[in-house]
Amino acid sequence: MAETKVRKTIKEIEPKKTPIPEQPPKERTKNFKEVALGYTEEQALKEAERCIQCKNPLCIKGCPVYIDIPAFIKAITERDYKRAYEIIVDADLLPCITGRVCPQETQCEAECIIGKKLEPVAIGRLERFVGDYAMANRIYEVPKIIKKDIKVAIVGSGPGGLTCAADLAKAGLQVTIFEALHMPGGVLKYGIPEFRLPNYIVDFEIENLKKMGVEILTDKVIGRVLTIPQLMNEMGYKAVFIATGAGMPKFMGIPGEGLNGVMSANEFLTRVNLMVGFEFPNVDTPVGMGKRVATIGAGNTAMDSSRVALRLGAEKSMIVYRRTEKESPARVEELHHAMEEGVEFHWLTNPIEIIGDEEGWVKGMKCIRMELGEPDESGRRSPVPIPGSEFFMEVDTVIYALGTKANPIIAQTTPGLKTNKWGYIEVDPETQMTSIPGVFAGGDIVTGSATVILAMGAARKAAKGILKYLGFA
Ligand code: FAD
Ligand code: SF4
Repeated sequence: MAETKVRKTIKEIEPKKTPIPEQPPKERTKNFKEVALGYTEEQALKEAERCIQCKNPLCIKGCPVYIDIPAFIKAITERDYKRAYEIIVDADLLPCITGRVCPQETQCEAECIIGKKLEPVAIGRLERFVGDYAMANRIYEVPKIIKKDIKVAIVGSGPGGLTCAADLAKAGLQVTIFEALHMPGGVLKYGIPEFRLPNYIVDFEIENLKKMGVEILTDKVIGRVLTIPQLMNEMGYKAVFIATGAGMPKFMGIPGEGLNGVMSANEFLTRVNLMVGFEFPNVDTPVGMGKRVATIGAGNTAMDSSRVALRLGAEKSMIVYRRTEKESPARVEELHHAMEEGVEFHWLTNPIEIIGDEEGWVKGMKCIRMELGEPDESGRRSPVPIPGSEFFMEVDTVIYALGTKANPIIAQTTPGLKTNKWGYIEVDPETQMTSIPGVFAGGDIVTGSATVILAMGAARKAAKGILKYLGFA
C-alpha cells in the first residue's frame, strides 16, 4: 500500500526557529569576524522539518524574486543540497549573500503560514546554509557558454551590476563592467561590514563571473573618464545597463556640519571596509574616529556604523534617532545585535547643532527631544520637537546615516536620459529600459536606496530586456 504523507499539525512543530550559533556579544565587539555563524547540517535539517509544505505557499509571494521556497526546503529535508541550490539560483543568483542580508522578517518570513501562530520558518538561515554548502563543496559549475560577438557594458558592480552581468554572460554576450572604485562589489564590499557579510563571499561570486568571461574594469568613473554616449557610439557597446546605486550621502543642514569629526556613514564605512583605515599609520587613510561616537539615523547603515565604531574602540557608541524603535527601518536582527553589543539608543532625539572646540573639532551636539505626531507621507508618525527640551550631548564624532541620494554625474553626461525630480532614472517597469533605446537601468539608481534582493531582481529583468532588445528573446 502506498504510504500517505500526513501533514503536521501545529502542535507537532517546534514553536521557535532553530537558533543560529553566534559569537558572544562581548567577544565579537573586539573583532570583525562574522557574528552569525550559520547552521550546521543537523540544525538545517531540524529547521527544514518545521516547514509544512503548504499547498498555497504565501512565502513565495513574499520574496521579491519568487524563490520556490517550499521546494528548496523539501530538497534540504531529502539532503539533496545540490537540488536545493539549483532551485534557489534559478531565481536568486547570490544565496550566500541574500541569506545573510535580506530583511526576511518583512518579506518571505512575514508571509510564512506557521508564523501566524509560531515563529516562522527561518527561510533566510536555510537559504544561507544552502549557499554556503554549495560554495564550500564547489557545487557551482561555470556553465558552458556559446559566445556571441556582441559587447554590452555595465556601469557599477554592486549586486545589480553583478547579477545582470551573470545573466548576460550566460547568454553568451561579451560583458564589461565599469566600476568607479578600485574594487568591485558596490555596497556589498564598501558598505556592509565584514562581520555581517564577509568579503570572501563577494569575492567568490566575482571570481565566478570572471570565469564566465566577464571583464571588470575598476577606477572607471563613467561620466568622467568615459561617457555612456562614448561607450555606445565610439566603443561598440550595443547596450548599457546602469547600476550605479544611490551613494550620495544626505546631511541635515544644521550648523556645525563642517567641523572635524563629522562624516557620512558611507565615508566612515568605506574608510574601514575598503581602505583598512583601522591600520593607520601603516596605511595612509585614517578613520578619524574619536571615543564618543554619535550615529544619526536608525537604518541598517546606522547599525553598521555604530557597531563598527564599537569594534574600533569607541568608549560610547550612540544611535540618535528622532522617532522610536518601532519606526526604525533597520533589520530586526541588526537592531537586536547592536543592542546586545552595547550600542546606546537615544530615541525621540534630534540634533539641532553640532558644537566645536576652538580648534574646529566636534565637542558635542545640541539636541532636542521629540514626540510622535500625525503620520506623514511615509505612513510613519512624524516626529515633532518638544519646545524647551534642548540639551547638550557630549560627543567627539558624528556620523550621518540618514540615507543617500542619486549621484547626478551619469544623468548630467547622458543627453536624453530621463530622471525624476529626485534624480533617479526613469525606466519602463517591464524591461528596465530608460528613455534612451539600448540603455537600461536598475537597482538603487532607479528606486532610491532599497535592498540587495530588489537590485538583483531589477537586474535580472533588465538582462531579459537587453536580450530582447538585441533580438535574442
Ligand atoms: P550599489 O551596491 O550601490 O553599487 C553601485 C556601484 O556603482 C558601486 O560600486 C559604485 O562605486 C558604482 N558607481 C557609482 N557611480 C558610478 C559611475 N559613475 N561609474 C562607474 N561606477 C559607478 N540591503 C539589504 O538588503 N540588506 C542589508 O542588510 C543592507 N545593509 C546595508 C548597509 C549599508 C551600509 C548600506 C549603504 C546599504 C545597505 N543595504 C542593505 C542596501 C543595499 O546594499 C543596496 O540597496 C544595494 O547594494 C543596491 O545595489 P546596486 O547594485 O543598485 O548599487
Ligand atoms: Fe527570503 Fe530574501 Fe531569500 Fe527571497 S531572497 S526567500 S526574500 S531571504
